[in-house]
Amino acid sequence: MNVLVIGSGGREHALAWKLKQSPLADRVFVAPGNAGTAQDAENVPISEKDFAGLIRFAKANRVGLTVVGPEAPLAEGIVDAFRAEKLRIFGPTKAAAELEASKVFCKQLLRSADVPTADFQIFSDPASARRYLMEKEDMPLVVKADGLAAGKGVIVCDNREQALQAIRLIAEEKAFGSAGDRLVIEERLHGEEASVLAITDGKTIVTLQPAQDHKPAYDGDTGPNTGGMGAYSPAPVVSDEALHWIEANILVPTVHAMRKAGRPFTGVLYAGLMMTPLGPRVLEFNVRFGDPECQPLMMRLKSDLLEILNLAVDGQLDQLESLEWDPRPAVCVVMASEGYPGSYQKGFPIRGLDEAARLPDVKVFHAGTALKDGEIVTAGGRVLGVTALGENIARAKYQAYAAVKCIRWQGAWCRKDIADKAIRRLTQ
Ligand code: ATP
Repeated sequence: MNVLVIGSGGREHALAWKLKQSPLADRVFVAPGNAGTAQDAENVPISEKDFAGLIRFAKANRVGLTVVGPEAPLAEGIVDAFRAEKLRIFGPTKAAAELEASKVFCKQLLRSADVPTADFQIFSDPASARRYLMEKEDMPLVVKADGLAAGKGVIVCDNREQALQAIRLIAEEKAFGSAGDRLVIEERLHGEEASVLAITDGKTIVTLQPAQDHKPAYDGDTGPNTGGMGAYSPAPVVSDEALHWIEANILVPTVHAMRKAGRPFTGVLYAGLMMTPLGPRVLEFNVRFGDPECQPLMMRLKSDLLEILNLAVDGQLDQLESLEWDPRPAVCVVMASEGYPGSYQKGFPIRGLDEAARLPDVKVFHAGTALKDGEIVTAGGRVLGVTALGENIARAKYQAYAAVKCIRWQGAWCRKDIADKAIRRLTQ
């Protein structure tokens, strides 16, 4: 079967790399891809926004399954467009992708399904949001723009003054455009964050091993938020018992509630969780694999991803035997361009990739890379996801950073403390 992966980040490189290993896979295409996907699969120069072009390509190249990486094409209805042409595609419809694209929809669904999440209120004008804050006791809150805002539409506030400023920014200055037409104001939760992803066909759920992202730019979880500076799996903050609880009390009721709401959910249901002293609480749902969590998960997954996704698309996940995982932990360290997550320059040649690739149990997934005159150069903020397996999490971290040390370009940097939370927890 020919497979088409849509997107161009580290997540899509990891998916294409894993799909290519399936005995069921013939050609694996990535649109538009990056310099890494060009090595492990075949790049197709079609933008993720060009649905008509992608559909034409899928038909002309007998693509048996399309897998969508990023959220934007899902929120814009790529799955509906492919299905209308009788093309098989893995991901939620536009109506189901609202779970990520609208925080108001997500919170209302969680409340109706009794899924544990932070207490919240919804506002459609800044004046009533301000009135609510003035009447409420001064306390830490989180103010969120309803729509997608590339991770910037969530403002964690220590006090009322900061919350008022956040309302001004989102709902009056419209810093995130129409994403700020409605607001969610919610209770601020405390604890360690974790990501639990499941693949679902709308009825059956296959829960993946837990992972943990590192969103803040700098060591010790300081600095501005990014797309994610590293990840590891498994995440010891989620015990086996907690994972079962999350499946039974968060993932299953959400999938059922989506079906009851007339928006059956097929694809990846990604729960961003806060592990609070009172138990796991949903911070957000994403409707696709996380980036970078996908990289360590694909390193560890031993089962055939293409078989799993095929069963999901056909509504037959109940026929899947349990997943097989490499018991060894995996750590992914993101190497970024100087200036990221702010502005940065592109086009610097990347050295040392071959040397890193020769290290055992290491895979360098590409994100913002491109080929220029036969050389691999930087082409984005997050450039590489250097991923390694190890006998334990400390060894996996050591090996990932050993590979990082081989790689250089002008201004390259990374966090130095990826996986330290897990190492501390396990050595406590
Ligand atoms: P966007 O929609 O702009 O892309 P996002 O979907 O990434 O943003 P969230 O994941 O909901 O936004 O929130 C981003 C971060 O904000 C979380 O990872 C968490 O650190 C913090 N956060 C969100 N909600 C809460 C909360 N209720 N309590 C404490 N922290 C929170």
